[in-house]
Amino acid sequence: ALYAPERPNSRGYDLHEARDLDMIDTARAPFAAPHQWQAGPLAAVDLSAAEVVEAINPADPADIVGRTAICSAADAEAAIAAAQPWEADAPTRAAVLNRAADLYEQHFGEIFAVLSREAGKTPKDAIAELREAVDFLRYYAARGLDAQGPARGLFTCISPWNFPLAIFTGQIAAALAAGNAVLAKPAETTALCAHVAVGLLHEAGVPRAALQLLPGAGSVLGPVLTGDARVGGVCFTGSTVTAQRINRTMAEGMAPDAALIAETGGLNAMIVDSTALPEQAVRDIVASAFQSAGQRCSALRVLYLQKDIEKPFLEMLFGAMDELRLGNPWHHDVDVGPVIDARAQADFAGYIEAARKAGTLLKAMEAPAQGHFIGPAVIRVSGIEALEREVFGPILHVATFRADQIDAVVDAVNGCGFGLTFGMHTRIDGRVEQVTSRLKVGNAYVNRNQIGAIVGSQPFGGEGLSGTGPKAGGPSYVPRFLRAEVMDHAG
Ligand code: NAP
Repeated sequence: ALYAPERPNSRGYDLHEARDLDMIDTARAPFAAPHQWQAGPLAAVDLSAAEVVEAINPADPADIVGRTAICSAADAEAAIAAAQPWEADAPTRAAVLNRAADLYEQHFGEIFAVLSREAGKTPKDAIAELREAVDFLRYYAARGLDAQGPARGLFTCISPWNFPLAIFTGQIAAALAAGNAVLAKPAETTALCAHVAVGLLHEAGVPRAALQLLPGAGSVLGPVLTGDARVGGVCFTGSTVTAQRINRTMAEGMAPDAALIAETGGLNAMIVDSTALPEQAVRDIVASAFQSAGQRCSALRVLYLQKDIEKPFLEMLFGAMDELRLGNPWHHDVDVGPVIDARAQADFAGYIEAARKAGTLLKAMEAPAQGHFIGPAVIRVSGIEALEREVFGPILHVATFRADQIDAVVDAVNGCGFGLTFGMHTRIDGRVEQVTSRLKVGNAYVNRNQIGAIVGSQPFGGEGLSGTGPKAGGPSYVPRFLRAEVMDHAG
């Protein structure tokens, strides 16, 4: 086991890191290139899934990681018709989800390999992601035992590529724990990770009619899976724009009481004042902005630095960035892997180049020539209001403030419309209260990094444009997959 089962919500990351990295050496060899995964729908009926797409390793585009047969809109229709809620009682469902958690741990080597080669995950990120997926399975299994009320019947789960195992698994586990049948639509870019995961869930005992994997394009499958009156709810994680589109499709096709759980993007800020411990703040900024190549919804996008410490602090930050190692995450000592694909790479390269031309680029690291890499960069901005969108890569924006402007900084952060994560480094307790009492964000972190919420102890989710709630990994999540029902039986 990767951690003691009696502490299912503890990632115990530092404690076990060395041992897990040792495990990788022996476990991953069978899944190194030229191994290729073959994936496709895992449905309760035969689907045509005539088109096949290749998965390319973002760190090494010559490495074809596998092939996936993808579904058409007609396939999605057939899967909806074949879906059947999981009739097993709650303790049986919980036992199966816990068995799936065991299987995920036992298949550590393959999961590590597919996360690395298909999604570009570094060893640290892959280990953390596997742990989070396992935590979701165990935590929602337990919450399903307490949950009250009838299931919604059929749930569509649509997930992003940036946590192709953890978020994908979490959505499914919650819907199943509540007794629903699931139609799972993974991101097209990471369909192999999803195929490995659903294979293990079926092996654990989830019936095929209760969990169907439908790989394919969101633009094709989305309208069917989120617009059919037989679907009782949609659980979505991804961009705010896609969530808004799904909301409109649901309004046209589904019953008025169909549930939408949407966890979306963010423009996340951190305040570092002149009392902060600089080494600690720099370490946490580097992790928050550049770990996972900045491809986390929680990642730090705008650093507000107190003017008085700007020069020495930025020098220290740039020095720490120079220590980061970029490269193919198959190597254990890599800190920053690739971005997800060529399109993302071109988008970020253009964004950095525009800053260079505007004279606002403070730092841009060299990136490896092969593969979809972007060197972490730092860009000066006047404030969060200067950002027109979420830039989902290793690009940090920096603004400065004077001590008497802290309230204005909070107003600006609240004014951006998003409200996902926030960080603060200070040694003035009153200032923590001054800021956090007025902030409108889902998760605020003080004197630490602002990524990596832990299932069960740090429920995760945003406000405003960042999500509908309830928070994932928290006690109110599974109940949202049920219908609220009050029964008063007298006599
Ligand atoms: P995305 O483009 O919105 O895609 C997310 C999922 O939606 C994919 O499976 C996509 O399929 C599907 N989709 C696309 N169009 C659809 C439609 N019309 N109907 C239904 N589904 C559709 O987001 P992404 O680029 O994968 O992920 C990055 C975004 O996710 C960022 O904004 C990030 O902040 C956010 N995110 C939020 C959280 C959170 O917890 N708040 C966590 C992780 C990521 P295809 O892949 O086939 O396009």
